Amino acid sequence: MTAEAPDAARRAVAAFVETFGAAPRYLVRSPGRVNLIGEHTDYNDGLCLPVAVGLELCLAFSPAEPTDEAAALIEVFSEDRDAPARVHLPPPVLSASGPPGRAARAQAGWTGYVEGVVAAMGSAAGAGASQAGADASRGWFGTLASDLPAGAGLSSSAALELAVARACAVTWRQDWDPVEAARLAHRAENHWVGAATGLLDQLACATSTAGHALRIDFRDLTTLPVAVPDSVVVAIVDTGTRRDLVTSAYGQRRAECERAAARLGVDSLRDLADRLPADAADRLDPVELRRARHIVTENTRVQEVVAALLRSDLAHAGAVLLDGHRSLRDDFEVCGPELDAAVAACRTAPGCHGARMTGGGFAGCVIALIDARSADTFTEAVLRGYRAATGRDGVVHLCRPVGGTSLIPVQEHLPRTTNDSTKESGQE
Ligand code: ADP
Ligand code: MG
Repeated sequence: MTAEAPDAARRAVAAFVETFGAAPRYLVRSPGRVNLIGEHTDYNDGLCLPVAVGLELCLAFSPAEPTDEAAALIEVFSEDRDAPARVHLPPPVLSASGPPGRAARAQAGWTGYVEGVVAAMGSAAGAGASQAGADASRGWFGTLASDLPAGAGLSSSAALELAVARACAVTWRQDWDPVEAARLAHRAENHWVGAATGLLDQLACATSTAGHALRIDFRDLTTLPVAVPDSVVVAIVDTGTRRDLVTSAYGQRRAECERAAARLGVDSLRDLADRLPADAADRLDPVELRRARHIVTENTRVQEVVAALLRSDLAHAGAVLLDGHRSLRDDFEVCGPELDAAVAACRTAPGCHGARMTGGGFAGCVIALIDARSADTFTEAVLRGYRAATGRDGVVHLCRPVGGTSLIPVQEHLPRTTNDSTKESGQE
């Protein structure tokens, strides 16, 4: 099946009206992302090229009034969860070890993401001249709805983090600096939730520009928007399989890369530039050699795809994606049978320039760069091919690149019956 047009904004606002009996003051949309190329390069100081996609998480919220009973409470409901996340202010303190201990945090589930971001944003409100006047004692209440499947590698976690960060920034009158917000959300995910992930997701979610992919250099965290030609659609094929990033082989791959770098005498595999040393096979064991080869060639592939997009050479961009897929499967060994079957189905579908697995690996989604005119026939063929190979039903999302986390008008997403109290809806 093909996913319906996302309408998380409307659902978030409707849930707010139903839960709190008035229209929200603000509405924030926060996109998911897929990585076009550059997989597992982030923690190797390398390059990647994510794109924020129009599958979004939306948060409708209002700041609490000082006279409210719960003036110092942040309370968020999610349409996908029974219990709300609640954080009492002043914000909890975020330390490197991160209270309240890993087991308790794991149990906290999604509320851990909310607490962690509130803690990280709170630490920023308490520091720095640019945040003078920020007041992290004021609560807010909200409802969120999402068209992003959780745990599918589309970064629903970063979308959630940045939406919460934006709500805090608005309520606490903090300046909105997308890069800084991404860093704070990343700290929350690392130190509070306990997921040792890189900064890719948060940067893509917070700082992307509509119509562009985002080249990120993890050595210095510089970013460069790269125009994606209008003739191209990014197709996301959700294989319907899921993995748990915190417990997957991510940590193991990370350690293997670090070991390979140490044995080759460099700080990170990025320092090898575009090739392995001639004697790499003597200095590394076969596993380390494969891991290092993936990282080195993957950085080159990012550069190649950027150059190909800039000259609208989609055939070449697609061929490089396919090379990247093979490298992830054979050298980095993070593919899975469903991901491989979905890529095979994409390759032979009409209008496909190229495809690869995307995200951390083993399960989740693949992406394909396709010709916009072939969207329907592509979708049909991929779903048929994937089903024939695996017996599973996939879902195809057809996306163009969108901009990063932002406030959008409440008014046009209100349910029709809502009355005049909506006229107060505020926007930046
Ligand atoms: P990914 O970021 O690839 O989707 P993660 O495992 O990093 O996968 O993050 C998924 C987690 O994010 C979920 O388990 C949940 O805790 C949180 N999350 C994502 N979307 C929502 C949502 N709509 N409501 C509540 N929690 C969510
Ligand atoms: Mg995530």
